Amino acid sequence: MKIAIYPGSFDPITLGHLNIIKRASAAFDKVIVCVMINSEKRGLFTPEERVELIRKVVRKLDNVEVDSSSSLLADYAREKGARVLVKGLRAVSDFEKEFQMAVINGKLNSELDTVFFPANEKYTFLSSTVVKEMIRYHSDLSDFVPREIIKIVEKKVRDRREG
Ligand code: ADP
Repeated sequence: MKIAIYPGSFDPITLGHLNIIKRASAAFDKVIVCVMINSEKRGLFTPEERVELIRKVVRKLDNVEVDSSSSLLADYAREKGARVLVKGLRAVSDFEKEFQMAVINGKLNSELDTVFFPANEKYTFLSSTVVKEMIRYHSDLSDFVPREIIKIVEKKVRDRREG
């Protein structure tokens, strides 16, 4: 079984991420979307909330699982029996960092390769950072975030302001 891992912060998941998940789901037998926990970077959403949001969005994709991990990615992949990491590339600027990471991960786990999917042209501008900006200015999120989670994302931000 060809298992691929799609790692990231997903703070929160965007339509750009979802596009990559769907394409990976068509290319591999199983895809594990993994929220990588970075204890030094506090996000807008907790890792548990991010996992929950992703689960809501991928419910209909039978071969997609959602998980979170604070392990080293190369070790996590070994543990899961995955030989492929999936990454999305929006621009040449993404490539430099991702290329370096791919080499490092290959050194840490020689059975692990990285596969890059070019961003769909509709989403090359889209990142979780852009979404957070849009939330801050109460913009319409329908072009950025999967429909199923728009209300939850907006509520989280409101609760935070009031709390
Ligand atoms: P970001 O904050 O940049 O969205 P993530 O860590 O959540 O970062 O991204 C996880 C992975 O998804 C990375 O490989 C990133 O390049 C990719 N990605 C993020 N946004 C998009 C997009 N709009 N289109 C394609 N790939 C994307």
